[in-house]
Amino acid sequence: MGKSTVTLASGHDMPLVGFGLWKVPKETAAETVYNAIKVGYRLFDGAYDYQNEKEAGEGIRRAIDEGLVKREEIFITTKLWNNYHRKEHALAMAKKQNAAWGLGYIDLYLIHFPCALEYIDPSIRQYPAWWMDEAGAIALDKVPIRETWEALETVVDQGISRSIGISNFQAQSIYDILSYARHPISSLQIEHHPYLVQPDLVTMAQENGIIVTAYSSFGPQSFLELPPAFSKRAKVTALLFDTEPVKKAAKKYNVTPAQVLLRWATQRDIAVIPKSNNHERLAQNLQVTDFDMTKEELEDISALDQGLRFNDPGFYLTQPIRIFA
Ligand code: NAD
Repeated sequence: MGKSTVTLASGHDMPLVGFGLWKVPKETAAETVYNAIKVGYRLFDGAYDYQNEKEAGEGIRRAIDEGLVKREEIFITTKLWNNYHRKEHALAMAKKQNAAWGLGYIDLYLIHFPCALEYIDPSIRQYPAWWMDEAGAIALDKVPIRETWEALETVVDQGISRSIGISNFQAQSIYDILSYARHPISSLQIEHHPYLVQPDLVTMAQENGIIVTAYSSFGPQSFLELPPAFSKRAKVTALLFDTEPVKKAAKKYNVTPAQVLLRWATQRDIAVIPKSNNHERLAQNLQVTDFDMTKEELEDISALDQGLRFNDPGFYLTQPIRIFA
């Protein structure tokens, strides 16, 4: 039986398995989150970008009001969108997002991507996006990561979030942040599945006390349902569920391929945040810390690595931003 929480560098504990809120519709988010709490989920991974923070917060508050959980048993991760990297905007967004969740504080606040886009007043354009207009124009802004990171440190100082971290960053900028960070980088959230293992990045984070959180643990599966630019790579890739080492381990441990993919991460102390709207899958995705694969089995799964990234703004944007180059 493996552990089910990890301690972040901030000193706070985080569940190893959570529920991802990307593509959970606003209309059903409160109910989905409330049901996920009933199934046993305690970590919710949100973002300003997902446009369902208020509704997710409502679902959590309902569970708290009904006595199912206490606030301190719940762990909320959310993220700062790219248009708000300037220090005054980052602080204002953290406050606005915290108010939307309505739970008093955020547990972990992440910089969503390591690139700044021009500011857009959130009261004028209420949905976040990569592009500035319908034609898909991209407008980068000139904001150093240091300014944004220091704004997140202020977010901690002001008690808005307990821990802070980054997402979609690579080692060079992480070394840079480490050179001035006043509050620790608690987590690095990255695309991580057997087609995109990034072993050096994971090792670099872990040896610097940063907990890695994997997103899109099922690889292509999540991207198949997206518009063509985002699904192009996924559509020509075999599902990870159907690969030999995954199927073999699933059979041996009497679990599903999805559970093997999630355990492949958690067994290496990497947190996972799978998303499902299906009750049975919700339950099975949570049961991924109670069987141990052998070192060879983990390595056979890692050997599926192709350096294949599905969430790549250097690929899907009409004016690519090559953050992973
Ligand atoms: P995911 O890997 O969790 O896959 C979701 C897909 O897998 C859905 O199609 C779902 O129906 C299916 N699925 C779920 N459980 C299954 C099971 N047991 N068996 C078979 N199929 C199953 O994908 P994701 O949503 O891309 O990633 C998870 C979360 O990570 C997101 O919801 C979001 O919170 C986060 N995320 C973060 C970033 C980032 O930039 N930081 C990017 C993408 C996702």
